[in-house]
Amino acid sequence: MSLLTGFEPIVRQAEPLAQHTWFRLGGPAEYFAEPRNIDELQALVRRCAEEGIQIRLLGGGSNVLVRDEGVPGMVVALTESAFGAIKAAGRVITAASGAKLGHLISVAVREGLAGLEPLVGIPGTVGGALHGNAGSRGGDIGQWTCHATVMTRSGEIQQRERDDLTFAYRESSLDELVILEGKFELEQEDPEELTKRMQKHWIVKKANQPLGHQSAGCIFKNPRGMSAGMLIDQAGLKGSRVGGAEVSDLHANFIVADASATSQDVLRLIDLVRSRVAERLGVELETEIEIW
Ligand SMILES: Cc1cc2nc3c(=O)[nH]c(=O)nc-3n(C[C@H](O)[C@H](O)[C@H](O)COP(=O)(O)OP(=O)(O)OC[C@H]3O[C@@H](n4cnc5c(N)ncnc54)[C@H](O)[C@@H]3O)c2cc1C
Repeated sequence: MSLLTGFEPIVRQAEPLAQHTWFRLGGPAEYFAEPRNIDELQALVRRCAEEGIQIRLLGGGSNVLVRDEGVPGMVVALTESAFGAIKAAGRVITAASGAKLGHLISVAVREGLAGLEPLVGIPGTVGGALHGNAGSRGGDIGQWTCHATVMTRSGEIQQRERDDLTFAYRESSLDELVILEGKFELEQEDPEELTKRMQKHWIVKKANQPLGHQSAGCIFKNPRGMSAGMLIDQAGLKGSRVGGAEVSDLHANFIVADASATSQDVLRLIDLVRSRVAERLGVELETEIEIW
């Protein structure tokens, strides 16, 4: 029996990951799985645990940079419809983790439920947003999260109540292997007012971020009380280039890649920015994106 016996319909080998990420860069995953339901996911997680295969979850791929040499082990994507359901009941919306964050926000606005609309325009899935506590100046997803269902690395399904959950700037205590579902308790408001507010947030985001380019959003976390983008700008780094990767002129905390870029170009540019900001301004920047 090979380690994949029984999983042939859902597992591919040497799957190029670039097409699954917003940077559109990087090499293949040794194994790539799209389970069709929770039972299949659980069986796969258990098999990987038994066989000692490293396993990672990929959401919308909007906060990861995959290295050119690719990723060993199993990458799992919850792209099938069983992982995409969104239901509203009273002030609570339940969303499966593979659902797009944008879909969750539009359901909330349509139902007249306020809270998540400042997150409009953040790409990716509900699972990715919960993992990294996605947010904007108007708030973050964690402040509205009242419950989560997760699967551990041994395949056990567990419930996390509000009191077990902690969220901080781009961090959450939801660090189990798989976030399966989140529940969000929101505030009732007139859907028309809410739609207008969401549109305003969207206009501001579009004006300030290079959304039409290959990128992974903000590269660095904002150091306490400071803006990473402003520091990079002050260090004179806007427009700096390595190969096909460039520090965006519109928002200095974005690195945009052109069609010729490699992940190595982006990694070298990240190192350059980090060392120049440390040298010129004495601040150590920490990456917000995950490097696989
Ligand atoms: C143009 C652009 C603009 C952006 N603007 C913002 C912004 O304003 N604010 C902000 O916070 N972020 C922003 N981002 C970053 C990114 O969109 C968020 O971090 C997003 O929440 C990542 O979600 P994802 O599904 O793409 O996760 P991925 O990039 O696929 O994964 C990120 C991490 O989450 C984990 N993960 C994903 N799904 C699950 C799951 N179901 N269970 C367990 N772990 C999981 C992955 O393993 C990985 O560790 C931006 C990105 C881009 C490209």
